[in-house]
Amino acid sequence: MSIQQQIETLREELHQHNYNYYILDNAAISDYEFDMKLKELQVIEEKHPEFFDANSPTQRVGGTITKNFNTVVHDFRMYSLDNSYSKEDLLDWETRIKKMVDGDVQYTCELKYDGASMNLTYEKGKLIRAVTRGDGVRGDEVTANIKTINTVPLHLKGDYPQRFDIRGEIILPIEGFLKMNEDRLANDEEPYRNPRNTASGSLKLQDSSEVAKRPLECLLYSIKGNNLNISTQSEGLQKAREWGFKVPKEAKLVNSIAEVLEYVEYWDMHRHNLPYEIDGIVIKVNSLYQQDELGFTAKAPRWAMAYKFKAEQVSTRLNEITYQVGRTGAITPVANLEPVQLAGTTVKRASLHNADQIEKLDVREGDEVYVEKGGEIIPKIIAVDLSKRPKNSKLTTYISNCPECAAELVRLESEAKHYCPNYHGCPPQVIGRIQHYISRKAMDIDGLGGETVALLVNSGLIKDYSDLYELTIEDVLPLERMAQKSAENLVNGIEASKTIAFESVLFALGIRYVGETVAKKLVKHYKSIDNLMVASILDLVSVDEIGERIAESVIDFFSSEENLNIIERLKYFGVQLKISAKKLANQTDILKGQTFVVSGIFESVSRTELKKLIEDNGGKVSSSISSKTSFLVAGDKMGPSKRSKAENLKVPIISESDFLKTLN
Ligand code: AMP
Ligand code: ZN
Repeated sequence: MSIQQQIETLREELHQHNYNYYILDNAAISDYEFDMKLKELQVIEEKHPEFFDANSPTQRVGGTITKNFNTVVHDFRMYSLDNSYSKEDLLDWETRIKKMVDGDVQYTCELKYDGASMNLTYEKGKLIRAVTRGDGVRGDEVTANIKTINTVPLHLKGDYPQRFDIRGEIILPIEGFLKMNEDRLANDEEPYRNPRNTASGSLKLQDSSEVAKRPLECLLYSIKGNNLNISTQSEGLQKAREWGFKVPKEAKLVNSIAEVLEYVEYWDMHRHNLPYEIDGIVIKVNSLYQQDELGFTAKAPRWAMAYKFKAEQVSTRLNEITYQVGRTGAITPVANLEPVQLAGTTVKRASLHNADQIEKLDVREGDEVYVEKGGEIIPKIIAVDLSKRPKNSKLTTYISNCPECAAELVRLESEAKHYCPNYHGCPPQVIGRIQHYISRKAMDIDGLGGETVALLVNSGLIKDYSDLYELTIEDVLPLERMAQKSAENLVNGIEASKTIAFESVLFALGIRYVGETVAKKLVKHYKSIDNLMVASILDLVSVDEIGERIAESVIDFFSSEENLNIIERLKYFGVQLKISAKKLANQTDILKGQTFVVSGIFESVSRTELKKLIEDNGGKVSSSISSKTSFLVAGDKMGPSKRSKAENLKVPIISESDFLKTLN
């Protein structure tokens, strides 16, 4: 076999496996085998750049940087949709249609996916271009980013037309969205507001490998082109499926508006069971011949109609506004509500974000407020019912002092939030910082939980995380619910944390804006805390991905006498504050491109060590199982839900010893 044939065979195989996995949800080979084949292809492609193909399966990982997105004129204009909100609206629409076309009318009902619209152009079965809707006439070309989305086929199957456009919605499934936010919170970053904006914000990221990291999907709903040999919308959907596109099977062909209404009612009730958000239903005249007769208004097709669900909204009483202090000192105002049912859950609290938001809404204690669960996961207050405002109501004045320690709050010009500056004396900050220090992703101290930390601080046994290392069994035994065994575990767990690698320690210190990734970057560059401590702003910002905001925060941290003292103590107790020589020698990239989930209790290594091993050898560790997981490393007492999820997604489950064997 010639090199070229070899490359082509591999590409074809990988396209097929991608299709099996992401479209059919039915993998034919293990992820491991898939990765091996992909690697094989990568290696050959690298050696033979003359056979480069922009649509090779190796291109999915991204890496292209786009500084400016080109504007492209759509071959077929991308119209918007008319909206309807009631049965009457739909019946009126039917009447208008019946006046313009002869014969019976069938309709397809489809879900209205809530994301960002996208036009894909295929030629000879290959994706050649992906363009955003823009103003409908022209949009931005975002091909490099779209290629990283696994549900976008790079190569079609079956009997496809020479050239055509296909339209769909780029969405972020809810689970992936929540996972992204979990990671952001763990890294002390503001969470994303809702899946829709996050999906559409992803389209124009400059670095396509960043897009590749997001669990986006593309759901298709319409084909455009000349001489396509398709005569109905439902036939088009079916063909698109055959060519390898993801077309949700909830779409349904019906014979009357009465059936349309049944579909609408069904999905209004059941939409919360879908893995992604929808904001309504789209109804289309099925016959393309009839569609032609109906044509377009200036804005939208006459043959299609969106039915918008009502944003779920209720009104309830706001009993009290309270203020929370986070571990970084950020103040968040919280609306405590009279409990009320909304979108299937009981809502008791809503975030008010910051002082500006309170002022904008003019929201006051005792007000009747409207609460909505739109795209947002956390409910929000959208307005006050002024007609019900009590006579004695008082304007809300934002607090000027910390509710926990009474320190005067500060607000930096560039930030929306107020902060409590009492870094070393404000209890939720002190406790929160130590809780962060011991947390799983940081020092991973077994045997010590968040509540015990609060007890230890409140009883005066510790003031900061360095004090942990002086705790004795006798110290902690008198604490509530503490027995000899648990006291031993606690002390042993703290002792064991002295072996945790420097990058986790740096993250554990809780320096503002220094999340896991930044900590890794800094450790890679500076190698020891001594080097980092003396770095200047200029020096810091010269490190890859470190901006001014992070640099200033690092400088700030090390300019505090108290922090320097704490670091000295950590050093004295033997906590790792530099990269270990062994570690430097132990790094490989044999696990490059593979993502692992680690769960359960292990025998010869701790969970944290296991994760380190993976990362030191070039692999990635993720906390939840998704279709992108390569392996689940299972220890003792792994949760049954993780196992069944892995089984459903066909993620191979391997044992600790399997894993260690492959490493050696
Ligand atoms: P609007 O933005 O409210 O005018 O609604 C039109 C948009 O709905 C289109 O641009 C598509 O991005 C989106 N949409 C979502 N699902 C569908 C679907 N099944 N059929 C057509 N459009 C859809
Ligand atoms: Zn405070």
